[in-house]
Amino acid sequence: MDTTKLQMEETKKEILSAPYYHPVGKEIEVFEHTYKNKLPFLLKGPTGTGKSRFIEFMAHKLDKNLITIACHEETSSTDLIGRYIIKGAETIWLDGPLTTAVKEGAIIYLDEIAEARPDVIVAIHSLTDHRRELFIDKLGKTIKAHDDFLLVASFNPGYQRGFKELKPSTRQRFVATSFDYPEAKIEIEILVNETNIDLGIAKKLVNIATKIRNLTELGLTETVSTRLLVDAAKLIKSGLPKRLSVKVAVVEPLTDDVEVVDALTDLCDLMI
Ligand code: ADP
Repeated sequence: MDTTKLQMEETKKEILSAPYYHPVGKEIEVFEHTYKNKLPFLLKGPTGTGKSRFIEFMAHKLDKNLITIACHEETSSTDLIGRYIIKGAETIWLDGPLTTAVKEGAIIYLDEIAEARPDVIVAIHSLTDHRRELFIDKLGKTIKAHDDFLLVASFNPGYQRGFKELKPSTRQRFVATSFDYPEAKIEIEILVNETNIDLGIAKKLVNIATKIRNLTELGLTETVSTRLLVDAAKLIKSGLPKRLSVKVAVVEPLTDDVEVVDALTDLCDLMI
């Protein structure tokens, strides 16, 4: 194969592997400028609204490595920075994902940062201001971030019970953008693109979501996300009956309250 053909094949592969992301506002432009200025970036919004997909898309667009950490209540600064491990008779230092990103100039994405232990916030402090450096206490060393390094975090604002807050002093270290459920037209397009489902079914799924999202009196901790709709569409596409798909992918994940499940199932059955 000649080199031109080979190059073309590679370009094609690159294009094919680009994550699909449908913009919902000015977030691409905002992120490009944030990256250019190397300002930390915070994505706010409920689960399943495309935050992770957006960062995957941007990392690909900017041709940067992306390191994603799903934070949970046990995530500590050691998990991010690194630790000594025993290998045979030796003790060796192993860089954590944050240290690797700082050294190599990757984008690090701390998903659900508010869930992590407080020492994580302390650890990223000096990376979120003009210093752009990481202090590795166990090595007694400070390292300067690579020019290409960017810190990105996501956060689910705690309007409801059960979510942890992010302190104003931390929030103000980031440029922030809100993510929410996309408008119907865009959400339909996302479903069709993600799953190849018929347009008619995509419309019905989005109608169901809109209806449930408006039922605030149900007191759901979180309501129907685009992710749940994508899952329902995938099940339908693979041949599971429509009503059953909606029940297991949309209704059941939302609540454990039997009466609410029954009421929502009846409602959805009428709509699909
Ligand atoms: P989050 O990180 O906000 O929890 P994700 O990025 O994992 O959510 O999104 C969940 C799913 O929803 C994705 O896998 C994708 O299928 C779909 N999705 C949501 N928003 C978009 C969007 N704007 N463009 C493309 N896909 C989207």
